[in-house]
Amino acid sequence: MADQSRPRLTTTAGAPVPSNNTSQTAGPRGPVLLQDYQLIEKLAHQNRERIPERVVHAKGWGAFGTFTVTNDITHISAAKVFDTVGKKTEVLTRFSTVAGELGAADAERDVRGFSVKLYTEEGNWDVVGNNTPIFFIRDGIKFPDFIRTQKRHPKTNLRSPEAMFDFWSAHPESVHQVTILMSDRGIPVNPMHMHGYGSHTFSMWNKDGVRHWVKFHWRSQQPIRNYTNAEAEALIGKTRESYQEDLYNAIDGGNFPKWTLCIQAMPEEDAERVPYNPFDLTKVWPHDDYPLIEVGVMELNRNPENYFMFIENAAFSPSNVVPGIGFSPDKMLQARIFSYADAHRYRLGTHYEALPANAPKAPLHHYHKDGAMRFFTNDFGNPDAYYEPNQHGGPVADPGVQEPPLKISGDADRYVQPDADADYVQPRALFNLLPADEKARLFDNMASAMGPCSANVKERWLAVLRRVHTDYEAGVRSALAAADDVNAIPVTEATQTQAAE
Ligand code: NDP
Repeated sequence: MADQSRPRLTTTAGAPVPSNNTSQTAGPRGPVLLQDYQLIEKLAHQNRERIPERVVHAKGWGAFGTFTVTNDITHISAAKVFDTVGKKTEVLTRFSTVAGELGAADAERDVRGFSVKLYTEEGNWDVVGNNTPIFFIRDGIKFPDFIRTQKRHPKTNLRSPEAMFDFWSAHPESVHQVTILMSDRGIPVNPMHMHGYGSHTFSMWNKDGVRHWVKFHWRSQQPIRNYTNAEAEALIGKTRESYQEDLYNAIDGGNFPKWTLCIQAMPEEDAERVPYNPFDLTKVWPHDDYPLIEVGVMELNRNPENYFMFIENAAFSPSNVVPGIGFSPDKMLQARIFSYADAHRYRLGTHYEALPANAPKAPLHHYHKDGAMRFFTNDFGNPDAYYEPNQHGGPVADPGVQEPPLKISGDADRYVQPDADADYVQPRALFNLLPADEKARLFDNMASAMGPCSANVKERWLAVLRRVHTDYEAGVRSALAAADDVNAIPVTEATQTQAAE
């Protein structure tokens, strides 16, 4: 007799099951009967408990929270999420490392993903960025190659510093991001003590159709805190799950982390005037040129009830914008608009947006039809309205949410950045602002990361560093020598010009 105070165990079809311990056999010593559906269902489900992990950003940590508008930016954006100071919108965040697999240690030196889904009244707005304002490359056509260098070597099945630095030295625009990666901010102590960035340039338009180009900054209200390589190594020896522990426990204990959302706003016509390409993901907009404008505060205050359901199933995509917020010509953004939604269709299924983590809180009216996970209704109360246009009261498009026309023209071609020196200006500005002790750690971190590389790749990368700053090259060169990885090779004319085209 079952314990009447507890719910009855059932099959997934809802039928009560008589035993969860003993399979049905033809005699006391077996064999097992194929008709034991409880056994078969359990085994079949176990086989299907995993979905493909993300190719990048597989290891992640996340939570729910609230975004509250604190400053009026309606003169810049007509997005309803910003229309009233004090307005609150529910959010889901996911932070991640880029290269590691699902079981990777949290406190590794890597860029961190920083994704926020805002469930606005006009649909989900996803800001799918990183903890860095820039990225390694500026063109999505290089993304598969770049990620390949971050993943395992096909023969050794090991991560390959040789591949990473070989690739980076062939793409000098990467030195900006690699400098941040090798700086103190390459290993944040946990997601709460780092800033986030939308990284790409987006667009915003107001009710009069005036467009600004914008950058998003999530400024941590917790102090910026990072681990050194030695601290991270010691920590990983004790726990591989430090980010999950820190984030979960902080929220569970009522210590809710907060970030201030700021934008940089560039009038549309300035894009032609600034000395850098404002749509190049390897460049920031200097704060002096475009100061941060406060928009609101994000507070994370609720741990998901189920990790898989809300964090593994969470599908963030830069394609999710809402009226008043749009894209820009940024080539990486344009590639990700396709690539991220496509990854989710593969990883989660056709109707991944209907999963609880992704389902909009806004009214939903679309004509997409059947396929995996068609467990929602969209017949609009009239089954005849299943195509468009129709005379049966089905939903219709709203021209009022059309963004203003993009005033950009040019010949269709494959454009290479004309000024090779432009890629070194901003890394140099970053290098110059680092205090001496952080520079010393940057040299050591870089030397440690490139230590296993061949002499050829080391020299190619040192030549890139030299074009940023001679002190940068000299510092890394002497850190390499000190680590006994290379003999101190004197700087020559040849090494100065070895930066790959
Ligand atoms: P500012 O002096 O106004 O700002 C410097 C920025 O660098 C601050 O946001 C600071 O963050 C951040 N920073 C400090 N140390 C590091 C580090 N180790 N890794 C990454 N970021 C760091 O300068 P500018 O706006 O003129 O930019 C100068 C350089 O600063 C840029 O070329 C770029 O490399 C870097 N940077 C610029 C950002 C931007 O959006 N303008 C954003 C981040 C970096 P904090 O305020 O927390 O100290």
